[in-house]
Order: sequence, then C-alpha cells, then structure tokens
Amino acid sequence: MFIDTHTHIHQHDSSEIADIVSRAVAANVGAIITAGVTVEDSRRAIAVARKHERIFAGVGVHPTDLTAPLNDEDIAILNDLAALPEVVVMSETGIDHQDRSPDRQWQEDAFRAQINIARRHGLPIVFHIREQGDDYDAHSARDVALAVLRETNAGELGGTAHYFQGRWKHAARFLDLGFHISFAKTLTRISDLEETARKTPANRILVETDAYPQPFKKNRDRWTEPRDIPAIAEKLAIIRGTTADDIQRTTTENALNMLGTRSAKVRAVLKSSSSAQTHAGR
Ligand SMILES: [Zn+2]
Repeated sequence: MFIDTHTHIHQHDSSEIADIVSRAVAANVGAIITAGVTVEDSRRAIAVARKHERIFAGVGVHPTDLTAPLNDEDIAILNDLAALPEVVVMSETGIDHQDRSPDRQWQEDAFRAQINIARRHGLPIVFHIREQGDDYDAHSARDVALAVLRETNAGELGGTAHYFQGRWKHAARFLDLGFHISFAKTLTRISDLEETARKTPANRILVETDAYPQPFKKNRDRWTEPRDIPAIAEKLAIIRGTTADDIQRTTTENALNMLGTRSAKVRAVLKSSSSAQTHAGR
C-alpha cells in the first residue's frame, strides 16, 4: 500500500477523519502522516494519530504560522512532543518568502531550532520551501533553506523537500544533501515538474497530497484527500516509463527508509493490511 507522506488531515472536523482514512484505504493508501503547523496544532496532530492507527504525526511550526520568534518555551514543548511514539517526522517547518510571510530572520532561526530538535530525537525533517510570487526560478527561500540544511548537517537526519515545485537543477541540490523529493497532485498539471519527476533517482521519490480542509472548494468531493495518491503515482509511472505498482512499492520503501527507527509502527500497519487483503482473497 501507499504512504501519504505529508498531509494535515488532523485539521478536519474530527467526525470526518475515520471516513477520510477509510477512503484512503479503499484507494490502497495504508498510512498517512499528518503534520502540525503550530505548537498547538502539533498537539492535535498527535492526538489524532493516537486515535487512528493508520495516522502518524509530524510536529513543527510552519514558517507562515510564526507570529513571533520561536521562543524557548515553544522549543521545549516541541522537544517534548518530538519524543512521543506517535511522532515520525519533524514537520512542518521550512522557509517561505512570499510577500506577506513572517519575518525572514524568525523563519531561519525557527528552522534551525527545529532541525536541532529533530537531531536530538533522530527524526527526519520534512520541509516547505516557497519563493516570492509564483516565480519557480526565484531562489531566495531555497538558498536560505539550503544554507541552513548544510550548516546543520541536516542531511544526516534525512527528510524531504515536500510538495516540490522547483526545477531539476534545484531538486539536484536537495538530492545531493541526501533528501528525498516529494511529488503532489501539482505534478498532474505543471509540466515543468516532469523533468524532476523523470530524473530523481528511484530511491528518492515520495508521494504526498498535502491534504487539508478546503472549504473554498464548494463541492466536498473535490477536496484533496489521501485517496488521491494513486493519481500522482499513475502520472509518475507514465513520466518514468514504469507501472503504478512499481511506483507504489518504491515510494513506500523510500518512505519507510526515510522514517528509519520510527518506521516500525508504520511498517506494522501496512503489513497487517496486506495480510488482511490476502485473507480476503484479493
Ligand atoms: Zn503542508
């Protein structure tokens, strides 16, 4: 089964989450990582992960959710949360240089602090990078992120450039540091991403939906959910000249490798579903 490596499904109304998971399982998505974007939201991600065996949590503060510099108390709480067994990644963190994004120094300091927490707990880092405007060739956020990742030797921890939107030459720099590249539904409509999707080594590709509540889409059925992962895999399969089954096996193995010592419970839940399927004769 697939692993949706980056979502925010804990932000849905709690009455919806079991159905979202069922629809994911019906689409062959057996495990879902849901990432916190503030300290409070990270707590909620953990609470939801505790309730649903297929959901695993990330803890972190998203760069656009910073309302002040990350203070010592926030860092201490994140550090405590990162130790909990439901937590499998440090996420969401990163750098965002949109015009209205928070102070850039706060972001850089928060990113560095979160990498330090990840190091203490052996967590991979799943990070966000967004440039100013819609300019995929802009590079300021990426340059800051790369500098921090290098300086902190974060490649040793592993992780992912999530919802990757840059060009191949940009992806190559994250790959060089040891990170994965994660593809989302944008791959099905932004043809400029195809070169990266074709050239990224097989052992470094991941899939994600970044699913979160989308009330701006009036038709509830059109909200992005983990069940959309197979559409991304099919597109990757076409671009890479392979099968969606192969993409599934590869990306699941890559995600488990990235999770390292935190992968055991994810592996177990995927294994229990595949044996259930076998017993059902499917
Ligand atoms: Zn996200």
